[in-house]
This record gives sequence, structure tokens and C-alpha cells, in this order.
Amino acid sequence: MRTLAVVGGGVIGLAVAWHAAEVGWSVTLLDPAVAAGASWIAGGMLAPLSEGWPGEDRVLAFGAASLARWPRFAARLEAATGVGVFVADQTMTVALDQADVADLHTVADWVTERGHQVRLLDRAAVRELEPTLSRTVRAALFAPTEPAIDNRKLMVALRSAAQAAGVVVRARTVHSLTELDHDQIVLATGAASAKLWPELPIRPIKGEILRLRQRPGVAPAPRRVVRARVHGRPLYLVPRPDGIVVGATHYEAGFDATVTVAGVRDLISDAETVLPGIGEYELTEASAGFRPGSPDNLPVIGRLTDRIVAATGHGRNGMLTVPITADAVVGALGGKALPDADVADPQRFSTIAGDIR
Ligand SMILES: Cc1cc2nc3c(=O)[nH]c(=O)nc-3n(C[C@H](O)[C@H](O)[C@H](O)COP(=O)(O)OP(=O)(O)OC[C@H]3O[C@@H](n4cnc5c(N)ncnc54)[C@H](O)[C@@H]3O)c2cc1C
Repeated sequence: MRTLAVVGGGVIGLAVAWHAAEVGWSVTLLDPAVAAGASWIAGGMLAPLSEGWPGEDRVLAFGAASLARWPRFAARLEAATGVGVFVADQTMTVALDQADVADLHTVADWVTERGHQVRLLDRAAVRELEPTLSRTVRAALFAPTEPAIDNRKLMVALRSAAQAAGVVVRARTVHSLTELDHDQIVLATGAASAKLWPELPIRPIKGEILRLRQRPGVAPAPRRVVRARVHGRPLYLVPRPDGIVVGATHYEAGFDATVTVAGVRDLISDAETVLPGIGEYELTEASAGFRPGSPDNLPVIGRLTDRIVAATGHGRNGMLTVPITADAVVGALGGKALPDADVADPQRFSTIAGDIR
């Protein structure tokens, strides 16, 4: 049996390890803190259409290709573990002023021209679907096929599916890939990837996020994902069975994971603009994580050498793009490229190729 080391046990490493074990690899996953990185912090939106913007054709196509794989991925996971991970079926991006309305028209036209299903809702239609939203909401872009998942349930389920498929999990920091004598290695260390492969153009993009619990008697959370731009800052509310996840700030500040007063203040105040009842919720957690950012907002998936495959750089979309990543990496390990993942080929960055270190 061929041996595979997966370095990094976030959503990407766990899904790759699970899929690889299922097709016959003898897999060891190495991570000092499995499931404690960005994947534990995330919101869980699967929103390639709502995040679309003219010019980002490759990002849209890659995200949409992964979204199409999500139902099967989730069904396999549920069959393996009994855990269902979806928490919402649809996404609504709301407009608070005339400039937002114009932007929503731009996105709607661009996305529908590319064959995807979104539509604009007027004020009355928004209120009918989500009556607890602010009366200042003027319109919305409605994405009826964009769901959300509970990232923490996903992480627990992936670990259990991976271990049930035979993956051995070791609590270990890898300091150099030369330590590993496996036949193949997958590098899935998220925002820290450049520490093990310095030519990778991956940088940490900090995001702060809040978790709120609904108190008895308080207005219920929206049933859909609600996205907005408030004072120029992106905001989203992602439902959970017991409340809402409110995200997220965006800074380039190295690996400083401090949760700042200003970050929490802005998130609460922006959320209140969209959902006035939110002040009655219990604030249960404020945390920060590092999106593994790449220069072109696409991940880096594919061969670095004949023994090392990269699976990193998923930026703000690692939850969305986990199914396509796992398929692409298992394909690369077996010598079969996945055409849908060509846009993520590491060789698009001329600096990347190198020797094992
Ligand atoms: C605030 C926030 C909100 C987000 N919301 C969404 C969202 O709604 N939808 C979406 O699709 N994406 C979202 N994301 C992005 C998503 O979380 C990431 O793209 C994804 O989690 C990246 O997964 P990963 O496995 O590459 O990294 P991580 O989850 O960070 O995992 C990397 C792992 O590598 C390990 N590691 C690092 N160095 C080493 C080493 N030397 N040796 C061994 N192990 C090592 C770490 O311990 C860690 O467990 C969000 C991110 C943030 C921060």
C-alpha cells in the first residue's frame, strides 16, 4: 500500500486524507492542533454567486464547480458519520442604499449571463422572506441555490470519517518536509503554508467573527444567509440552530490573532443595522482566524514536485471549495488531473517550483 502524509488537519487536510484513504492510500495526518485553524473559526457560507464580481470569471467558475459537488460530498459524509452539516439553503445579499442597489444589479446581470440562477427582490419581497430584517433594507440579490454549512460540525464529521476510513492522526508539527519519508506528501497547512514552502505566495488574512446565541423570547434569526455592505464593510449573518454567526473583519496583520475592541464593535453595530433585534442575543464567542490568501483569490492545488502536492491558498472560500479540492488532490496523487481545477495549478506562479526542503 502506498503511503501518504497529509500535513495540516484543517478542512482541506482532513477532506483530502479521508478521500485518499477511501481510494486505498495508507494515510497519516500530521497536525499539532487538528481542526483548530481557520476552518474552526469560519462562517460556513457556500456563496460563489453572491460573492461574484465582473472580471472574476475564474473564481466564479471554480466556486460554482465546487458548489455543484457539495450535495454529494455532504451525502457521503452523512452516510459515513450520520452528521448532516447544512444550516441554510439560500442566500440573500441586501442593499441599504442606492449604490448597493446598483451593485446588486451589476452582480445579478454578470452572474445570470454566465448561466447561474440569482434574482433581484424588491423591499416587499425581502420582508416577506425575512421579516426580522431592518425596514431600511431596500432590495436584495437572492441566490436560491446557495446554502451554508456548520463548519464546526463539518470538522468533527470529517475527522471521524477520516479515522473510520483508516487515517492515522498524529499530533505533530512538521518543521521541514524533509522529515517525512512517505511516498507522497500533501501540504495543507493553510495560512502557514509558506513556512514549509517559502515560494508559495500565501499570506494570512485575519478575520474576526462573532457567535451569538438566541435567548428565549427573542426574535428568531433569519433562516437564510444574509449578506450586506455597511459603511463599506462586508457583513454576513449565517444561521445556526441556536443562533447566528456574524462575520467578518478583514486585515492584513501577519499572524496576530488578537480580537480587537474595534473589530467587535464594528461587527455588532453593522449587524444591528441589518437585523435590529440582534442586541438581545447572547454574545458567546469572539474569535479570529487566518484566511490563507493567494494573489489571485484562487487556491494552489497540484504538484510542487514528483513527491509533493499543494492544497492551500483557499482564502475566504475554503469551505466552499473543499469538495473540488479533495477530488483534485486525489486525482493528482493518482496521476489524473481534474480539468475543473486547472485554474488552481501551482505552475501559474513562476516562483513556486523547487526542490524538497
Ligand atoms: C473569519 C473567517 C470566516 C470565514 N468564512 C468562510 C465562509 O463563510 N465560507 C468559506 O468557504 N470559507 C470561509 N473562510 C475561509 C476558510 O475558513 C478557509 O479557507 C479554510 O478554513 C482553510 O482551510 P485549511 O485547511 O487550508 O486551513 P486551516 O483550517 O487553517 O488548517 C491548517 C492546519 O494546518 C496546521 N498546521 C500549520 N502548520 C503546520 C505544521 N508546520 N505542521 C503540521 N500542521 C500544521 C494548523 O494547525 C491547522 O490545523 C473563513 C475564514 C475566516 C478566518
